[in-house]
Amino acid sequence: MIRLSNIKLPLSHDETALTDAILSRLDITKEQLVRFDVFRRGYDARKKANIFLIYTLDVETNINEQLLANFADHQLVKQTPDLNYHYVAKAPEGLTERPVVIGFGPCGLLSGLVLAQMGYKPIILERGKEVRERTKDTFGFWRKKQLNTESNVQFGEGGAGTFSDGKLYSQVKDPKLHGRKVLEEFVASGAPEEIMYVSKPHIGTFKLVSMVEKMRAKIIELGGEIRFSARVDDIDREDGQITGLTLSNGEKINSRHIVLAIGHSARDTFEMLHDKGVYIEAKPFSIGFRIEHEQSMIDDARFGPNAGNEILGAADYKLVHHCKNGRSVYSFCMCPGGTVVAATSEEKCVVTNGMSQYSRNERNANSAVVVGIDPSDYPGHPLAGIALQRQLEGNAYLLGGENYDAPAQKVGDFLRGNQSNELGKIKPSFKPGIKLTDLSKALPDFCVEAIREAIPEFNKKIKGFSTDDALLTGVETRTSSPINIKRGADFQSINTKGLYPAGEGAGYAGGIMSSAIDGIKIAEAIALSINSKV
Ligand code: FAD
Repeated sequence: MIRLSNIKLPLSHDETALTDAILSRLDITKEQLVRFDVFRRGYDARKKANIFLIYTLDVETNINEQLLANFADHQLVKQTPDLNYHYVAKAPEGLTERPVVIGFGPCGLLSGLVLAQMGYKPIILERGKEVRERTKDTFGFWRKKQLNTESNVQFGEGGAGTFSDGKLYSQVKDPKLHGRKVLEEFVASGAPEEIMYVSKPHIGTFKLVSMVEKMRAKIIELGGEIRFSARVDDIDREDGQITGLTLSNGEKINSRHIVLAIGHSARDTFEMLHDKGVYIEAKPFSIGFRIEHEQSMIDDARFGPNAGNEILGAADYKLVHHCKNGRSVYSFCMCPGGTVVAATSEEKCVVTNGMSQYSRNERNANSAVVVGIDPSDYPGHPLAGIALQRQLEGNAYLLGGENYDAPAQKVGDFLRGNQSNELGKIKPSFKPGIKLTDLSKALPDFCVEAIREAIPEFNKKIKGFSTDDALLTGVETRTSSPINIKRGADFQSINTKGLYPAGEGAGYAGGIMSSAIDGIKIAEAIALSINSKV
């Protein structure tokens, strides 16, 4: 097929406009056009009153070769690349040792699925419960403040992104189109088809839950095995090679190919790995608050007269400000039309995050507003970033009233340095609840200073961002992993062969898509490693 890029059409174009644009770009007749697919649809909203849709199209004509020759020097007319995923290997006959995947989040899921599709029959171990049980536990915490430390927003089938906005885009380089394989698997398991072509796809919480179940069934059908409530508490190493692991019930499983896809909240497992001598370094991450505004205000600020347009949906934003004190403040994991959620996995800690449904039709928009920090802020020990997270989360628990309510403050009060005593127009969406307080006590001074500088700057881009009544809730500490479990070019730990640190927790991804893509890369590396030894 022929790929046509950067076809700009008005937001409200009619059905024939795409065909007309193809005929015009290629200078062909209607009879020469066989069919076309939309590969990507984005939008340009820099001018609110004049928003454009931008298409990339894959076109089939009955004179493809001739057109490709005619347009050989044209940057926006190219041959469509091969979009199919090609498995790198096939499991050898009589394979005796099965690869093990620890963790069933996006990384473990795609790693396990692709290993199963290649015939390697992986064993997948997940400390949390299967997704329906996990949903009950998670909602139970939000409604009744009963935390299950093994089954919550962070732990359980589907991983950390299951109760989320389900944003499915990432900025990682993806020359082998692994991301497309991820999206295809999601669609095959019930995700809306549009995720294949919209520029900022998202799925929302409830759809994610049923997709994860379908993907689990597929892995089992292919000979894989998935065990829940199966926490890995120990690993065995011999001469720098991993040989097996021990579960919390004492059971031992032998394997020389183990994927470590444990996410960024498995602090006990990080400690165990460090104690066992697996090489770990501290890495930068970010800390801050969630901010809530009315979604209608964000829609107006971003889309003006086009606010509410069905194709555009609820507006998002992405903001960054470099502060005088050398820190950067940025918006993170913005959830249009969603809710702020309690995301702790540890007792006596308060952590915020955000989620939404596919419809994104809740009243408030929320986003993290976070400050980048790095190991010079928590020097001395590879796991010192975890200690800092715990300290801030424990402090937020105290500020929130020691009952899992989150400390919160109106933006106006935060900027002026006054404690909030009553809510304004923005009603908090955080469950179980919030306690109004002085959030400057929740973060180190340099972070408070940086966020106080950034919010008025953000107001220059999103009018109303610094409105007095907008609400801050704290603390946002689990933005990414505070550690990096170093791996080499062969994807194996640099001092523990056969151990494949992967996904967000090991420091190789950030978000659902990049974690899933990393999972596929790891599956490929394991398959090639196993086959090279047969
Ligand atoms: P995880 O998803 O964290 O999965 C790790 C799994 O390993 C967990 O299920 C855990 O239980 C298991 N595990 C840990 N230790 C052990 C052990 N010792 N033994 C056995 N199992 C273990 N990203 C986006 O791209 N878009 C979003 O909209 C988005 N929204 C989010 C909303 C929320 C509320 C949260 C918490 C996160 C959100 N994220 C979002 C981030 C995203 O979820 C993560 O980047 C992604 O899930 C990381 O994938 P992963 O597979 O590496 O790790």
